[in-house]
Amino acid sequence: MAEPKPERQLNSRQAAFVREYLVDRNATQAALRAGYSAATAGQLASALLKNLKVQDAIEREESALAAATKINREKMVRDLVALRNVDLRRIARFKTFPCGDCHDGLDNKPEHPDCECKSCRGLGYTQIVVADFDTLTQDEADMVKSVKMGKNGPEVTFHDKRAIDDRIAKLCGFEPKQAGDAANPIHILLQAIQGTALPLAPARLPPPGENE
Ligand SMILES: [Zn+2]
Ligand SMILES: [Zn+2]
Repeated sequence: MAEPKPERQLNSRQAAFVREYLVDRNATQAALRAGYSAATAGQLASALLKNLKVQDAIEREESALAAATKINREKMVRDLVALRNVDLRRIARFKTFPCGDCHDGLDNKPEHPDCECKSCRGLGYTQIVVADFDTLTQDEADMVKSVKMGKNGPEVTFHDKRAIDDRIAKLCGFEPKQAGDAANPIHILLQAIQGTALPLAPARLPPPGENE
């Protein structure tokens, strides 16, 4: 990377502000940690963020970090998409087994077929089957929020795919531009599809979330 031109260089306190800002993205706290006085840190922080030299330095630091770690927005989006595409049935699912009396108790077929069993009326019994975690992919394992043995069998909770979708949308810039749009996901969808929310008839679109 080329050495920044002198006029793009920051004084040491501004440079400290940039360093601190990249830690937690809290401009006021960063200004305080950089040594600006508590009385003026808030005001100075927003002024610093508008300073083109500061903006430039933040941008340069960010690209350097992205290059060094090979983490960039595209990779983050790809990883999140892989995560939200996990088939949760591979991790835990309902499964029907023959009851003890099914098929005269002689048949050990794991999947329960229709039968004439009088004990379970041919319904078998249903259990939650949890996969051996050694067989899961990393993405599949990452989707598991918690797993424990409850009194009625295993209890598995998953991370919220909707929340992952929100992060993907944010990273892709599908965020609402106006505050009022936040309540209207169809507007966001339309904007993502065609760049504007105006012409299409939203009523013809399926309600969001039905194709989970
Ligand atoms: Zn049966
Ligand atoms: Zn049965």
